[in-house]
Amino acid sequence: MFGYCYLCSTEFSGINYFCEDCSRIRTYIKLYKKRPVEILDNVLSRPKEKQINREMIEIKNEIKNKEVQLQESLNEYPNKEKILSELKKKVNHLKK
Ligand SMILES: [Zn+2]
Repeated sequence: MFGYCYLCSTEFSGINYFCEDCSRIRTYIKLYKKRPVEILDNVLSRPKEKQINREMIEIKNEIKNKEVQLQESLNEYPNKEKILSELKKKVNHLKK
């Protein structure tokens, strides 16, 4: 069965209201509220050559946010310093 996605209007097979990509976008919005739209506005409103720089800034911001969340959640666990230092090593490796 074919239908048109309610968000992007492309034709797709299935019985859902949204195509696979738009279903993923809906999931991100459900999980992160306004953040996916902020990221799209921040990245896609720029010329293409500047989008990569902005994507890197957004990725670094997300890593910082996750570090803060992780620090807060680790405060509840024993051995938190050891776990945190191991994770920081992994994050620093990803930043390179
Ligand atoms: Zn769609």
